Amino acid sequence: MPLLVSNCAKAFILSTLPQSKRMSHHAPGVKTRLRGVVFDMDGTLTVPVIDFPAMYRAVLGDEEYLRLKAENPSGIDILGHIEGWPPHKQRKAYDAIAEVERQGLERLQIMPGCAELCAMLDSKKIRRGLITRNTKSAVDLFHERFGITFSPALSREFRPYKPDPGPLLHICSLWEVQPNEVIMIGDSLKDDVRCGRQAGAFTCLLDQTGVYDSPKYADVEFKPDFKVTSLDEVHSVLKENFDLSP
Ligand SMILES: [Mg+2]
Repeated sequence: MPLLVSNCAKAFILSTLPQSKRMSHHAPGVKTRLRGVVFDMDGTLTVPVIDFPAMYRAVLGDEEYLRLKAENPSGIDILGHIEGWPPHKQRKAYDAIAEVERQGLERLQIMPGCAELCAMLDSKKIRRGLITRNTKSAVDLFHERFGITFSPALSREFRPYKPDPGPLLHICSLWEVQPNEVIMIGDSLKDDVRCGRQAGAFTCLLDQTGVYDSPKYADVEFKPDFKVTSLDEVHSVLKENFDLSP
């Protein structure tokens, strides 16, 4: 649908269009050639198995967890929060995080639709990358267990990590593409969408259970261009909105 309207009117139309119809980075009617897709790992390529509230409680204690949760409606940045802690306290925190992540790894499952989506991208010669706040060993395990490889795959060891746009910009420079030729797909508004938007990439939020339909997310600073409830839906979002020719 071509939209030949002023920026002001366009902003209004965009704000009233369903998320899946938003194309805010480009001239109306022009499809962007998609050069790469960057995925989050936990909860996006894998079925959510990490119990984040349990992790936050283990690191922060009940009282501090509830206080921070109330202060950060879009979610707690646990890694950022503990960054400034004294080393001994920080070490304990990392151990607690690692334990919750380890429990998650035992139950690791690939997200339905992941293999099919990757095969489609491969058939179009569209690159696949990965950015996670999890560890490199978790990424290695994912690659090993499911036999699907993402490259580059940047983990927590790459600084700065999401939601900083740094890792996404790094991947774009390695691929020699512009951020606006790339889409970031993830299940976290505060990490994945924020990272993608700040880098200038397209963003797609995977929201399997409609968590982000809640009014508390209505006024967040960084909104996704697209919202899907499954990886299967990503196919049609990409086909409708991007030029996928190799
Ligand atoms: Mg995630």
